[in-house]
This record gives sequence, C-alpha cells and structure tokens, in this order.
Amino acid sequence: MKPDPRQLVDGLVAGDRAALARAITLAESALPRHQELAEEVLELCLAHASHASPGAGGAVRLGVSGVPGVGKSTFVDALGVHLVREREETVAVLAVDPTSPVHGGSILGDKTRMPRLASDRRAFIRPSPSGGSLGGVARATRQAIVLCEAAGYRNILVETVGVGQSEVAVADMTDCFLLLMLPGAGDELQGMKRGIMELVDLVIINKADGGSEGRAARARSEYEAALHLFPPPPHGWAPVVGVCSAQENRGVREAWELVLRHRAHMQESGWLHRRRAAQARRWLVELIEGHLREAFLRSAAVRERMPGLEGLVEAGALSPLRAARQLLEAWEAGGKG
Ligand code: GDP
Repeated sequence: MKPDPRQLVDGLVAGDRAALARAITLAESALPRHQELAEEVLELCLAHASHASPGAGGAVRLGVSGVPGVGKSTFVDALGVHLVREREETVAVLAVDPTSPVHGGSILGDKTRMPRLASDRRAFIRPSPSGGSLGGVARATRQAIVLCEAAGYRNILVETVGVGQSEVAVADMTDCFLLLMLPGAGDELQGMKRGIMELVDLVIINKADGGSEGRAARARSEYEAALHLFPPPPHGWAPVVGVCSAQENRGVREAWELVLRHRAHMQESGWLHRRRAAQARRWLVELIEGHLREAFLRSAAVRERMPGLEGLVEAGALSPLRAARQLLEAWEAGGKG
C-alpha cells in the first residue's frame, strides 16, 4: 500500500511513533519511489517547522563520537535519561554507522544498549541505517533529524563511531560536536587527528571512576593544553574539556550544561544560524551529487558500457580519464536516461 505523505506527517506531528518510524524507513530506502515519497514528507515537515517555530532554531542537535568502547551508548543513555526525567524534555537518538553489518542489525543506537532510555515514552531511539555507503547513511540521518524535529523532539542526539569520515558527516548535521575520550591521554593525544579536533566543540573524558579519577583529571589538563595549540575558531568558541562517569551518572548533567553554554554562545554570536546555513548549502550539494551519481549508474548507456570499460582500465589498456570521458559522453548521448 502506498503511504500517503500528508497522513504520515499528520501522524508524526501528532506524536504517532509508528508514523515517524515509517517516514524514517522511507528516507532510508534506496528505491527511487520511496525517496520521492520521503521528499514529499520532508517538504511538509520543513513547512511545518518554519510555521511552528519561526526562527527558534528548532531542536538542540548534538553529535556524539568516540572510539568503540569509550562509552557512547552508556553516555547517551545517561544523558537522555537526564533530559527526560530531570528536565522533562523529549529526546531522539539517531546514529550514523557506515560500518554496521547488513545483517544482524547495527550496533550504534541499539535500544538494548540504552535500556533505561528505551523504556521512556519521551525518548525515540533509531539505530543507524545499515549496509549503506557513508553518503547514503548520512543522507538518511539528515532527513531523520528533520522528521524527529517535526515530531516535536526537542533534543536530537546523533551517535557515530570514531572512524573514517563519519565524524565529519555528523559534525556537519549537528549544532555541537562532542567527542568522548578515555582517561590516560598520553597515547591518544599523540594520535589525535588534527582534522577531528577542528570539528570538536566539547571533549568529555568518560570513565572517571573506580580509581581512574586522577588519571581523568590529568587527561583533562593535557587535552586543554593540547587544544590551546589550535588557532581559535572563527566563531570564538574554543573547545571545552569535561570529565564524567556515564556509568555512575556523574558529570552527565554538567556535560549537558556545557552543551547549553555552547548553544547560548552560538546563538548570541549569530554562528548557530551561520553554521546551519552552511550545512544547508552542503546538504544541497550532497543531494545533487547523490542524484547525479545514481542517475548515471542506473542509465542504460552506462550499465551497458561500464563492465567492459572497467575491464580495459584494470588491464591498463585504457586510461581512467578516457574511460570516464567515454562513459559521460555515452550518458549524454543517451539522453541521460
Ligand atoms: P560504546 O562502544 O562507545 O557505545 O561504549 P559502551 O557504552 O557500550 O561501553 C563500553 C563498555 O564500557 C561497557 O562495558 C560499559 O559498561 C563501560 N562503560 C561505559 N561508561 C563507563 C563509565 O563511565 N565507567 C566505566 N567504568 N565503564 C563504563
């Protein structure tokens, strides 16, 4: 049965979780007709958002990253519980994990790893779309953010693994990017990738418990010193370092206060608006690139010639430049269909 976009939007705006889940499933689908439906749903949601809260900046969008095992799920669970129980707010948890297996489900955003939050009606948890390229997974999550905001979620937490380009993608869809670290900075400090540190707004050292409190405090000073070496960012917010124990629920409230401090700074300086505007512009470019790539690879002219030309390039009989040129010309000659 073809879902009706208007009905889906009415449902999700009214708080129907099944409607929200269905809309996200459409956004994750690779089928062109699903994507068209998802676009209609999104347009309606965007119209609703600008009508419902003009200029309000919408939800707080927080990216959370860190290496596997650092405590992302535990931290997001504790932070989410703080938001719903102590602040009486709503929270949606999304994930970007291009490494997640096609079968057996994904690891990030897994409800069983956020047991306390998963049982709360004010929280919505959605695992990473699985088995796609980073581009596909990121595109779906960007759309899911808009859908969750239309559904009224005040806070959106986007979890990602600290590998590859997924951190860049998540920093590019959130207002604030939080990196979780382990106590015992030494090694990590050296391996800290400059590119990642430039994305980071908050560093939180987790697992400051069970005798590791001293090491965590030392790590904090070392990170603060290291972060000072970076040139100040144009928006004037230098990354702040905090300490917490997600497991023992200490420092989690303080971490959220840092998120709010960052937000106040970004709002007052006008940079929240600028950051979102730049993100919208890059989203546009990504959408165009994605559509062009898919249309190109789907076209009959390209599908016919691609395997042969790939073989010639692999064998060294044809240069990649020539092969690309031939394919693009065939695509254009075929009316791009
Ligand atoms: P993720 O892979 O980054 O999502 O990490 P998890 O949240 O699954 O945590 C990995 C392991 O670290 C689990 O065994 C957690 O119980 C444990 N853990 C998470 N947070 C803390 C913490 O604050 N202190 C301690 N001691 N262990 C923690």
